[in-house]
Amino acid sequence: MKYELPPLPYPYDALEPYIDARTMELHHTKHHQTYVDRLNEALAKHPSFAKATEGKPEIEALEEMLKNIDSVPEDIRTAVRNHGGGHLNHSFFWRIMAPANTLIPKPSTLNPINDAFGSLDEFKKQFTAAAAGLFGSGWAWLVKDQSGALKVITTPNQDSPLLQGWTPVLGLDVWEHAYYLKYQNRRTEYIEAWWNVVNWNNLLE
Ligand code: MN
Repeated sequence: MKYELPPLPYPYDALEPYIDARTMELHHTKHHQTYVDRLNEALAKHPSFAKATEGKPEIEALEEMLKNIDSVPEDIRTAVRNHGGGHLNHSFFWRIMAPANTLIPKPSTLNPINDAFGSLDEFKKQFTAAAAGLFGSGWAWLVKDQSGALKVITTPNQDSPLLQGWTPVLGLDVWEHAYYLKYQNRRTEYIEAWWNVVNWNNLLE
C-alpha cells in the first residue's frame, strides 16, 4: 500500500481572498506531498507492518496507526507520528474548508457547540485564542474527547489529536507555511480570515 496525495475538493483559488491560490498550491503540492512521501519511505522499511493494514481504506489504516502509535516499529515511530500525522491532518484540513461564506452552521452543529461553549461566538473566541497563542508550529483543534465532550485544544508539530484518543471535529494549521506568503507574521489576521472559509457542513453530524 502506498499513500497518495488526495486532490483538493476545490480549485486552488477557491478560498481567495482569505487564503491565496499560491499558498494553497504550495501547501498542497509541496508540503502535503512531502508528508506523503516521507510516510511511504518510513513504511517501506517495514513491509510486514504495513501489510497488516492491507485491505483497509488508507486513511483508516493511518488513523489506526496513530491511535496505537506504540505498536508502530520503534525506528519509524517518529516518522509515522510526524509524516503520517502531517498527511492525516492536511487531508482533514482541505475538507473542513470551502469557498467563502457558502455555508452556515446547521442546528446539528450549532446546538452541541452552544451547549459546550455557550455560543458560536464564544467558541470562535476560544479557538482563535488557542490558535493565536500556540508557540511555534502546530494546530488548533475542536475535538471530541473520550467521553464525547467538545474541547478546544492545540497540538505541536504534526501531532494528530488521535494520539491522545481525541477525535478531530475542526482543525486549523498554524504553521507559518499555511499563511506566511499573504500574512507574513500576522497569524491573528490569518485566523480571523480563515473563519470565512470554514466548511460547516457535516461538522458534528
Ligand atoms: Mn500545513
